[in-house]
This record gives sequence, C-alpha cells and structure tokens, in this order.
Amino acid sequence: MSVDVDVDVLVVGGGPVGLASAIEARLHGLSATVMEPRDAAIDKACGEGLMPGAIPALARLGVDPTGFPVRGISYRDATRRVDHVFASGEGRGVRRTTLHATLFERARELGVQFSTARVQSLEQDGASVTAAGVRARYLIGADGLHSTIRRLAGLERTRAAATPAADRRFGLRRHFRMEPESDFIEVYWTPDVEAYLTPVGGGIVGLAILGRRGIDYDSAIAGIPGLAERVAASEPVSVLRGAGPFRQRTSRRSRGRILLVGDASGYVDAITGEGIRVGLAQSRLAIDCLVAEDPRRYERSWTSATRDFRLITGGLVLASNSPLRRAIVPTAAMAPALFGLVVERLAR
Ligand SMILES: Cc1cc2nc3c(=O)[nH]c(=O)nc-3n(C[C@H](O)[C@H](O)[C@H](O)COP(=O)(O)OP(=O)(O)OC[C@H]3O[C@@H](n4cnc5c(N)ncnc54)[C@H](O)[C@@H]3O)c2cc1C
Repeated sequence: MSVDVDVDVLVVGGGPVGLASAIEARLHGLSATVMEPRDAAIDKACGEGLMPGAIPALARLGVDPTGFPVRGISYRDATRRVDHVFASGEGRGVRRTTLHATLFERARELGVQFSTARVQSLEQDGASVTAAGVRARYLIGADGLHSTIRRLAGLERTRAAATPAADRRFGLRRHFRMEPESDFIEVYWTPDVEAYLTPVGGGIVGLAILGRRGIDYDSAIAGIPGLAERVAASEPVSVLRGAGPFRQRTSRRSRGRILLVGDASGYVDAITGEGIRVGLAQSRLAIDCLVAEDPRRYERSWTSATRDFRLITGGLVLASNSPLRRAIVPTAAMAPALFGLVVERLAR
C-alpha cells in the first residue's frame, strides 16, 4: 500500500546522533528531514572524547572531524596513575561545535532537509507518523537526555525505576587555553568527582567534571593536585555548561513507527565517555531496520549494541557511588591488564 507522506524518515533532534541517523538514511536512499530548534553549530556539555570505535563509524558516513588524536586513557588519583594505550586504534578529542558543523555539512551535502520546529506533540497511525506538520513513514527520536519523543510515545520507565535523588549524577564542562601534557585523556578521581581533561586541538583542552547534584566546578578542580595548578594558570575560553541527571531509563526503544536513538533511547552515565560511539551504532541499526521495513527488529539490535555500555558503565557507576570508589584507581593500577580489557570493551 503506498501512502502519501512528506518524507521517509523524520529525525527529531539535530545533535550528533540525529544528524548521523539522517546521513545514514540518505546513504540508503531514504529521504530525511531533521527537526532541530537550535542553530548550527550546537554546543553541549560533553567530555568531547571520541572513542576509537567512533572514528571508523564516522568515516563510514563520510565524516572526518578535525581534532586532537588521543592514544589512550590515563586514570589518576592523589598518589597513583595508570595509563592504557588503545589497542583498537586512536581516539580523537573533538570540540562539539566542530563535530556538529562537520555532521551538519555532510547531511546538507546528501540532501537532508532541515526544519527549526520543536516537536511538542505527535500522531501515529498504521502507515505514518506526523509531528510539527510533517508526515513521515518513520520517526527517529534523537532528542537527547530529556526526550520529548520518549515521553510522547509512552516509552519512559515508571517512577518506581527512578534513580534515588542522592545518587543522581550530573556533568559540567568548560574549555581552557592549555597545551596538553600528553596525548591521553586524563581522568582524575577524587572522593567526590571525576575530572576529564581532553585535548581538542589548537592549544585548547576541555575539562569536564562529573559528580552528584550541587557540585561546584571551580572548587572541585581547585581540590585536585596535579590539575588545579595547570587550570589556575590557564585562560578559560568557553562558558560553563551542564547536563543531567544522566540516568534515563526506557521501557522499550520503539513503538510502532517511532524508534529512539542516542541519549533519548536511555542513558547510563558519561563516566566511560562512549555516548557518541554507542549512539552512532544505534543510528546505523535503526536505519537498517527501517530499510528492511522491520522496525520491530530494532529492540533486539539495540539491546545487543548497548549491552557493554549498560553492564560495564552501570557497574562502574554503582562502584563509584559506593565505598568501593576509593579502590577504583588502586585496583586499575594493580591490575593494568584488567583495566585495559575494560577500556577496550567500551572503546571499540
Ligand atoms: C559532561 C558530559 C561528558 C560527556 N563526555 C562524553 C565523551 O567524552 N565522549 C562521548 O562519546 N560522550 C560523552 N558524553 C555523552 C554525549 O554527550 C551524548 O551521549 C551525546 O551528546 C548524545 O547525542 P544525542 O544526539 O543523542 O543527543 P544531544 O546531543 O543531546 O542532542 C539532542 C538534540 O535534540 C534537540 N531537541 C531536544 N528536544 C527537542 C524537541 N522537542 N524537538 C526537536 N529537537 C529537540 C536538542 O536541541 C539537541 O540538539 C558526555 C555527556 C556529558 C553530559
């Protein structure tokens, strides 16, 4: 049965995962529209570390953002340091605005259409989904942590599954003019926060802090030996941005012709820094299912593509919220092979 629609795939949310979904759709010959109320190039609180697996995933889309090649991850506390060199290739520190501009340009080149509407309601029937006046065969919800599409489609997990307020975690990020000490993403563990220093090129580093509600960016950094002095001597070159709470649960990832990708589909935490890599994998799987006219298959694909993220990242968050927190860096230093194994599981 042929149905009169405006577009094959309507992507709600023009962040990196929404843009990747639209590019993926065009590469498969589907027409695509991205609805995003914010102007290019969109900035967002993010550690800006692209894990090695994200680089070939972007290259497949014809996207190669400029940034700073990173060779590995360095975990540190007040007295110890353990470095892991990625076995799975280089990662890259990429400014969010650069990543957005590069994806946006590629989407435009492939003929993706753009609308600046903010979706507030939607309707679905057996053959189409309509949002903000656009009727599509399928809708991809890529509208981030606090997804409206997730709520409108009734895909949120109930309140009973909510993370207790005291355990909810948030992130803050700012940039500094600072020459990086090395080509590692430096992760500083303190009793209260984790600080991620990621070089993004051009003598600029991003510095993200993760922790519980109410963390104060400046005083958290001032308490980190080895980092505080470097930051105090550096000029801030961006505004402070925040995001959270991280943990967002979904009951399912699709309903009829609506599929969720990226943070909208459920998020664990930024502690292992692989949101973009996982989101890119989801966007590829979602479009594969739509090309096969089999949206129901997405649930299984999503579950398998996010297993490590949910289990390993979820486990690390649990440990970080418990008395085990103080043992994380010492254990990684005592068992570097195990630390490397865990990093590789998430980086590829
Ligand atoms: C502090 C911090 C550090 C992080 N560090 C890393 C890291 O180092 N590496 C990594 O890979 N990941 C990291 N992440 C995670 C990463 O930022 C996210 O996983 C990623 O941004 C998800 O992309 P997205 O496209 O799903 O969502 P987003 O980037 O949030 O984009 C969603 C878009 O949807 C739009 N939108 C919202 N509502 C609507 C609506 N109703 N209608 C239309 N549009 C709408 C928004 O304007 C936004 O542009 C970090 C996150 C945080 C908070």
